[in-house]
Amino acid sequence: MANRPRRGSAALIPFPDLHEENSLTRTLRFLAAPLLALAAAAVARAAEPGPLTAESVKAAGLLRDQVVSGSRASDWVREITERAGPRLAGSPGDRAAVAVALELLKTIGFSNVRAEKATVPVWARASERGEVTAPVSQKLALAALGGSVATPEGGVEAEVLGVRSYEELVAKKDAVRGRIVFYDVPTARTKDFTGYGRSVVYRSDGASRAAKYGAVGVLIRSIGTDGNRLPHTGGLRYAADEPRIPAAALSIPDADLVAFLLSRGGPVRIRFALACGEQPDGESANVIGEVVGREKPDEIVVLGAHLDSWDLGRGAIDDGAGCGIVIEAARQIAALPERPRRTIRVVLFANEENGLAGGKAYAAAHAAELPRHAAALEADQGTGRPLGLSWNAGPTAEPLLSQIAGILRALDAEELTAGGEGGADISRMLPAGVPLIGLSQDASTYFDFHHTANDTFDKIVPKDLDRAAAAAAVAAWCLAETPGLPERVPADKRKLSW
Ligand code: ZN
Ligand code: ZN
Repeated sequence: MANRPRRGSAALIPFPDLHEENSLTRTLRFLAAPLLALAAAAVARAAEPGPLTAESVKAAGLLRDQVVSGSRASDWVREITERAGPRLAGSPGDRAAVAVALELLKTIGFSNVRAEKATVPVWARASERGEVTAPVSQKLALAALGGSVATPEGGVEAEVLGVRSYEELVAKKDAVRGRIVFYDVPTARTKDFTGYGRSVVYRSDGASRAAKYGAVGVLIRSIGTDGNRLPHTGGLRYAADEPRIPAAALSIPDADLVAFLLSRGGPVRIRFALACGEQPDGESANVIGEVVGREKPDEIVVLGAHLDSWDLGRGAIDDGAGCGIVIEAARQIAALPERPRRTIRVVLFANEENGLAGGKAYAAAHAAELPRHAAALEADQGTGRPLGLSWNAGPTAEPLLSQIAGILRALDAEELTAGGEGGADISRMLPAGVPLIGLSQDASTYFDFHHTANDTFDKIVPKDLDRAAAAAAVAAWCLAETPGLPERVPADKRKLSW
């Protein structure tokens, strides 16, 4: 059967009772007619009402099953992570990733494959070391936070001041001068990103907040949920009006050690040395490939993920996984007997991790086209099974989203969450009102590996990744096939949260 809606036909609800009739079954059918009518009404009520025809809903269900059974998402993750390696923006690995992704998209049949230049900030790590010098002598496993300034060559050594919150930092502000501030804030293991959301602020802003009161350096408990001696890096943001002080993350067992020593009451001293820093801006690119729409090729559904990664691991779950998901989703749509109405555009964004230059460059370069963007979806939550979608659009888009959720029920992925910005890269399209969709995935184990040397291909769970690809494919196909453009984000809700 052609895996597509029959245009211009009335919505058909298939019934399973279409075998040949004899007089007995005809009689039974006649007697059962009122019951059948009731059953038909029940089926009609059970199906989500919305703009997609019943035939489109059915076609999307077939697509879902086909992606799950024939998915090659893991292969694409392996191509990117194992051929390019770590790919921090502007690094040799980043350039290799752009080349690998271009070759891959061309090879597997995308149209209009291209690299769109993005000028990216460049930061590099050369070396780092640290140790407790009193009351014991103990080497520490630590990693500079992305964007950190270097320490003086011999490092910084100072007494440590431990705090568990910004409130505690403010309460102890008179004791901060000349100290190393240690933010001891554990990350809760949660299925969604709420645990991460609560602790990551200490990574982003902790250095400048401590610098304000005269700290000479900052250490944080890694923003992670594992127990390995592998620190989690990640970007920090220096405030423009505070001195820039060096900042690093301690592995969780080392953070436990420092916390224990501090709890004993006597002075704890640490020395750490970071050789790292900003370099002149570099060149990278958003890598793009399309499945051109059959009816409205100028209307676009973006399927996005980010191609760059941190430098410690190989960025398999963050965000090789997302790249695999969106590439596979679009590849399977391209392989259908008929393409959807609108164009599906895969965008592998540059520099999500430390600057968002790719997301900003895309929104700027395509500004004239954004009013014709039906929606943008981003996959940047790792390899976990899909849970559903977050969505941010005008209220009349809700019935369409409910229909999509109904199709995702077979994947156990029917959760719909209103609001949010879909994903960091696509968030830059919010001011233009583009409907933003986030692929929500089970993040229970994501922060065991996130931004560490342990983010490698063996962490990919193909079965879950394939289901995530199926969810992305269904959402993208439905957004590309629905008759009218989904209502845009209302004008008063287009302000970026960061
Ligand atoms: Zn990411
Ligand atoms: Zn990341």
